[in-house]
Amino acid sequence: MSESIIKFDKVVKRFGSLTVIDELDFEVKRGEKVTIIGPSGSGKSTVLRILMTLESISDGVVWIGDEPLWHEQKNGSMVPASEAHLRKMRGQLGMVFQQFNLFPHMTVLRNITEAPVRVGKLSKAEAKDRAEELLQMVGLSDQANKYPHQLSGGQQQRVGIARALAMRPKIMLFDEPTSALDPELVGEVLNVIGQLAEEHDLTMLLVTHEMRFAREVSDRVCFFDRGKIKEEAAPDELFTNPKEERTREFLKAVL
Ligand code: ADP
Ligand code: MG
Repeated sequence: MSESIIKFDKVVKRFGSLTVIDELDFEVKRGEKVTIIGPSGSGKSTVLRILMTLESISDGVVWIGDEPLWHEQKNGSMVPASEAHLRKMRGQLGMVFQQFNLFPHMTVLRNITEAPVRVGKLSKAEAKDRAEELLQMVGLSDQANKYPHQLSGGQQQRVGIARALAMRPKIMLFDEPTSALDPELVGEVLNVIGQLAEEHDLTMLLVTHEMRFAREVSDRVCFFDRGKIKEEAAPDELFTNPKEERTREFLKAVL
């Protein structure tokens, strides 16, 4: 686990005059499970959205593997090398959002097979086989022909995870995947994520407020504050012995 698969090198993201990512240096090794915690508005979602190329950056370089996501132009602004390049980079990542974002007019099965068939160029039969495997993994084999509105929030989020996995990403990004769920449904989604965390080769970047879970599954926890990593450490270290006053305050408020 020495090679880095994600690297932010002095990355800056501004929205107008507001700097939300402030010269961020951040690295994730291949196969590493990293949790990002921090107050609302500290830039956690923006980091994931930058990786998904849903946001551009204002300065710095973001690497996935040994390729940069953007290239710098002569005038200093960052532009995508090409749509094809971005599509290729995006294909290495799967993202699960707080709001489940399933296609409401498609069955559970179609939600999962859509991208592999349309973008991944799998045959319908291959995509269906893969979807069935994934539905089994998330415990929803019997729900394949239902529509999202017929499922509970926890079930919908498990479909969201299966859908993200259907493109066989190397990196999975989770942005507060249980925050929109009723408390009694949180456990079933965390179980699935915990199961994924045991996969040695999969790199995981997780934003969550579930501190106990973060402690169980992550190799490293990063505390974000105002667009920077204020403190990072192995979970046992960060949760029991935080060094920074800001981290202590935050943990006192959420634990
Ligand atoms: P977090 O996920 O840690 O709560 P975000 O990354 O969502 O924080 O947001 C960081 C800051 O950037 C917030 O102040 C937010 O209001 C601002 N922000 C995010 N997206 C936009 C946008 N598209 N336009 C303007 N400001 C934005
Ligand atoms: Mg957020």
